[in-house]
Amino acid sequence: MRKRIIAGNWKMNKTFPDADDLLIEITEELLDMDLKGVEVIVCPPSVYLELATDAAENYPISVGAQNISDKSFGAYTGEISAPMLKSMNVDYCIIGHSERRQYFNESNEQLKQKVYQVLENDVVPIFCCGEMLDQREAGDHFKVIEKQLEESVFNLEDFDFEKLIIAYEPVWAIGTGVTATPAQAEEMHVYIRSLIEKKYNKDISEGTTILYGGSCNPFNASELFSIKDVDGGLIGGASLNAGDFLEIINQRIKKQ
Ligand code: PEP
Repeated sequence: MRKRIIAGNWKMNKTFPDADDLLIEITEELLDMDLKGVEVIVCPPSVYLELATDAAENYPISVGAQNISDKSFGAYTGEISAPMLKSMNVDYCIIGHSERRQYFNESNEQLKQKVYQVLENDVVPIFCCGEMLDQREAGDHFKVIEKQLEESVFNLEDFDFEKLIIAYEPVWAIGTGVTATPAQAEEMHVYIRSLIEKKYNKDISEGTTILYGGSCNPFNASELFSIKDVDGGLIGGASLNAGDFLEIINQRIKKQ
């Protein structure tokens, strides 16, 4: 059964008091909302994860990290690892966000190791895939997505792949204010599902949660979520404002 998810990726934003305020604003409102099974995930910077996991004890949120090391423990200054996330009750971890691929040169092979690390530790990967603008303009977008999936997650056994959440995030739509059209989002979500069916089977394909990410906001959320194969959203900029984030959650609840 597919999960219905709205996840907020705070990226490298907010000081500690601001993060605390945002979390309080979001969680207090969520308490009074009928989420109808929609799961809300907050992905703050790692130094604020404990703030969020503490809140998750009393409020209807789940917590995700934004990145993870491809190693478990050891002399890797500055890194945090999947066993550490697990020990802090972090449920999810974004892996392969385009900013990690672009600015930190994370390769498909390295992302495969990261996916392996989080699954080993019972943390659910939110695996991001997406094409750059020039790749779309060259008509290569399907090939790019297929390669990213093929080289990072299609090696997984059925029982592990079934745990994965996929986020389709066209890179040209991230933080730009340019959203994929509903037709573009639908086409790619259907394509990803068809790849999963080919690699695994129809049940797994139909059961995989696929989120859309890229300049989703309170004004376009309803249209994006009305697409059958879009199960929810990975939200960047709009997750930094409680009102906007809550409105996007509302739009997802309305879809059913
Ligand atoms: C993201 O960073 O995952 C994202 C979707 O960002 P934005 O919503 O700001 O485009």
